[in-house]
Amino acid sequence: MAGRLSSDDLADALRLNGLRVTPQRLVIHRVLGEIGGHATADQVLERVEALLPNVSLPTVYATLALFERLGAVHRVSAPGDRAVYDTRTDPHHHVYCRVCGGVVDLDAPVDLSPAVDAANESGFGAEWVEVTLTGVCRSCAGADAN
Ligand SMILES: [Zn+2]
Ligand SMILES: [Zn+2]
Repeated sequence: MAGRLSSDDLADALRLNGLRVTPQRLVIHRVLGEIGGHATADQVLERVEALLPNVSLPTVYATLALFERLGAVHRVSAPGDRAVYDTRTDPHHHVYCRVCGGVVDLDAPVDLSPAVDAANESGFGAEWVEVTLTGVCRSCAGADAN
């Protein structure tokens, strides 16, 4: 399952927290997965609008923030002025394109244990370790060359 929640898992998490399982919540979660797991609220809204009437950007933001609290999505540590949400919730790394803002999983082993050990020794309780490489993706690099 690679750290992704199914719709049933999401419904369970909502119920466990005393929250209603609404079509809106399920559709927003599904759409985020369909986009490929890394999307901004605007990108989610673009797709959700076609499926559900009366969905606004603040609703999408609030729903994504709720999912984050439930552990159903992870907010990627990427630069840029818009939050990027990920349906994959196990710790993993990303590359971030500073031109198009695209975020893609980086599946490479990165040994950050010296950093975690140093933080823990200083009394800091590390909970999440994530590396984001910033640069230019292949398609943006190609566009630059022309
Ligand atoms: Zn790019
Ligand atoms: Zn990811």
